[in-house]
Amino acid sequence: MTNDNQQLSTEAGSKECINSASDSEASTSSDSEANINPHTPDPRLTCPLCHHNCRLAPEETGFCGARSNTGRQIVNHYAGILTGLALDPIEKKPLSCFRPGTYILSAGSFGCNLTCPFCQNYRISQSADQQMIARTAVPSQSYSPADLVQVALDQRTRGNIGLAFTYNEPLINFEYILETFSLARSAGLETVLITNGSFHPGPVRRIAEFTTAWNIDLKCFSDEGYRVLNGSLDLVRSTIELAAASAHLEITTLVIPGFSDKEQEIAEMTSWLADIDPDIPYHLSRYFPRYRLTEPAPTPLETLHRLKRIAEKKLNRVFLGNI
Ligand code: SF4
Repeated sequence: MTNDNQQLSTEAGSKECINSASDSEASTSSDSEANINPHTPDPRLTCPLCHHNCRLAPEETGFCGARSNTGRQIVNHYAGILTGLALDPIEKKPLSCFRPGTYILSAGSFGCNLTCPFCQNYRISQSADQQMIARTAVPSQSYSPADLVQVALDQRTRGNIGLAFTYNEPLINFEYILETFSLARSAGLETVLITNGSFHPGPVRRIAEFTTAWNIDLKCFSDEGYRVLNGSLDLVRSTIELAAASAHLEITTLVIPGFSDKEQEIAEMTSWLADIDPDIPYHLSRYFPRYRLTEPAPTPLETLHRLKRIAEKKLNRVFLGNI
């Protein structure tokens, strides 16, 4: 392991929120509008999107490295700037049971509200890591919501069914995606989100109105595990319940030896999912060393097959990925 690399267990809290709200302030963040109080001289605004509840002074940027206080509102300063745009097989998202055999135009930008040390897309997701930005110049291009929907429509002749936001964490780009998905649905396109799900129910409900399919990462099934990643299991569970009630939903767990490969935890996780719907497609994905995690070695195939047998006791559709 090099000096840059850290064990999963030591990563928690490695990145401080630039300015976090107190619990009482956080409890008021239930909708998707930044909190502006005209009667107070305090120029700070609270971002309403996720568990970090960043309270930002003008010009400050939140934990995700993408949303900033302009002085009047909190915006994603990468809105419309895409680092990836590709026509992918729908199964690659992964979505195995949603219009199989088709393609979907897939877009990504910068930033994430979690800090998974094993991130497969760290060059774009960990944009708050200034050292990482300096190391990696990522090409990007700007699209308005209308322009992006037009590209998706133009790709229909090649089998495209819609538009997916993926690669980095899409929901930190809430306003841009809401506008884009609204236009896409009006044009008859499918709208897909690949997300970590660690967001407050208010914005999730808003975006769910325009989302036809989700794949949500369920990275582990313990509060302690999510603390290591700077995420919130409670919010991920809430997002899964909201998505299952409104659209097609699939779930993915990246199986990392020593972190998310415990048989008891997979049994509890899949039992909880089965209580929502035993037909939810569930993906167990093989881990390969990435980013700050060069150990352990890739997930043994026998581990994946063992966990699949456990998951199949509760769920009807279990898939292995990345093998
Ligand atoms: S989305 Fe970004 S700015 Fe908003 S609360 Fe989460 S980490 Fe903070």
